[in-house]
Amino acid sequence: VFGSTDYTQEMNLLRDADIAVHSAKQKGGSCYVVFNQNMHQKVLQRLVLENELRRALEQHEFTLRYQPIVGLESDRLVGFEALVRWQHPEKGSISPIEFIPIAEDTGLIVPLGQWILQAACRQMVCWQTQFPAASSLKISVNLSVKQLRETDLVAQVEEILQTTGLPGQCLALEITESMLMDDSRVVNQRLKQLSDLAVQISIDDFGTGFSSLSYLHRLAVDNLKIDRSFVSNMFESQRNLNITETIIKLSQQLGLVAIAEGIETPEQLQQLKAFGCKLGQGYVFNAPITSDEATALVHHYAHHITAFP
Ligand code: C2E
Ligand code: CA
Ligand code: CA
Repeated sequence: VFGSTDYTQEMNLLRDADIAVHSAKQKGGSCYVVFNQNMHQKVLQRLVLENELRRALEQHEFTLRYQPIVGLESDRLVGFEALVRWQHPEKGSISPIEFIPIAEDTGLIVPLGQWILQAACRQMVCWQTQFPAASSLKISVNLSVKQLRETDLVAQVEEILQTTGLPGQCLALEITESMLMDDSRVVNQRLKQLSDLAVQISIDDFGTGFSSLSYLHRLAVDNLKIDRSFVSNMFESQRNLNITETIIKLSQQLGLVAIAEGIETPEQLQQLKAFGCKLGQGYVFNAPITSDEATALVHHYAHHITAFP
């Protein structure tokens, strides 16, 4: 940080140097970062969000959107992925990409994650009660690293299944590849316990992390979700096309179900079918929709729902 006459208190100079150090650490360390005012602004904004996030949970400012997951051959609904939104009273809808990392750093993800899981399960039970044909639909919920590390995660899931009355086989939990590498023994045991509850495990954003194939084989994993960076840009490079095809083949070989994320065009959909991909989601079908819109969709599909593989 460069000194200037703007600094009237030495503490502020040290504070700004500290902000630059943090920024350097975030870049992986072993580098230098020169402080600028933007960094201070960002820190302030983040502090504000942190505080507001605490309040938001108490004020019930979070809602869920539901993105349909579709059987590609049959064009039938097999379930939904629940995606959280923050309805900020002044700033409007805030993306989870912005607030989930803050919720993780502050530990707020634990109560928030619990609320998300509970709300998503309750919603699925509501659809199943309204439309008996929806009994084979699955709700897929994203888990954060912090949640997977909670020692009582399995007990929490079990309790939510019990209080909501959702059968375990109607719930899938999405975790990212990097979470598998964390502490494989503990994670392994936890996944095993979840699969004892009949809950499925999906690996989210597959292809962007560093899964060891032997892990995938050993761990109680059910689905691989092909990251949308490959799917949405399938025709932009041969590499993306190859990776997409390889993940689908890999899933088949390992007895897992591939779910393509971010299918945006009919051409992409066609290609995925040709590759033998069973399930998918994306704007070509639906963006994440409100619970009312999703209810209408379940109603529409109620006559021809197939079981989630
Ligand atoms: P994700 O789990 O990979 O979720 C898929 C994201 O892709 C969603 O963004 C969805 O709106 C978007 N998407 C779906 N179809 C398409 C498409 O065809 N094209 C494009 N370009 N995008 C598509 P969203 O809802 O903004 O969520 C972003 C991320 O935030 C999620 O990525 C997930 O990592 C995290 N997140 C969302 N909800 C939760 C939650 O309840 N708990 C946790 N821990 N994380 C969540
Ligand atoms: Ca996900
Ligand atoms: Ca994903």
